[in-house]
Amino acid sequence: MSVLPIVLWPDPRLAETCAPITDITPEIEQLAADMLETMYAAPGRGLAGPQVGAMQRIFVMDAGWKEGESDPIVCLNPMLQEVSEERVTNAEGCLSIPGVKPDISRPAQVQMVWTGLNGGRFVQSFEGFAAACVQHELDHLDGIVTFDHLGADERATLIGEYTAQ
Ligand code: ZN
Repeated sequence: MSVLPIVLWPDPRLAETCAPITDITPEIEQLAADMLETMYAAPGRGLAGPQVGAMQRIFVMDAGWKEGESDPIVCLNPMLQEVSEERVTNAEGCLSIPGVKPDISRPAQVQMVWTGLNGGRFVQSFEGFAAACVQHELDHLDGIVTFDHLGADERATLIGEYTAQ
């Protein structure tokens, strides 16, 4: 396994829609392993394909590992099946936008379906931090970053802070 370089905003790859994964090849298995290692090294709780320049619908996540509750998942072609009407706001960091943690409002609970590395179909409900994390990573597969959830003024302010670093 190897730690991959992380793509930083405003790299245009972070604004692209990713392609579905049609075959679980050895290259995809290697990519998933490298993405997990890259995520832990960063350190982060989630990492999506475009963040390492892989323009495919894959993300890795381990929402609780920093609290000692490690549960890594590799999600291929993930999709939301259900979202709650209830919304919550979390401060969301992003490994591609270091130092910026805007408050983002999202559905509080979601149910996601995805394909695992073994080709199996998984369905799981997420709430709390994990719900925000899966939605954040899904966004990356559609070329959406945290800035895109903000109003024009807040977006301009935070982009100013980011580029001033
Ligand atoms: Zn991110």
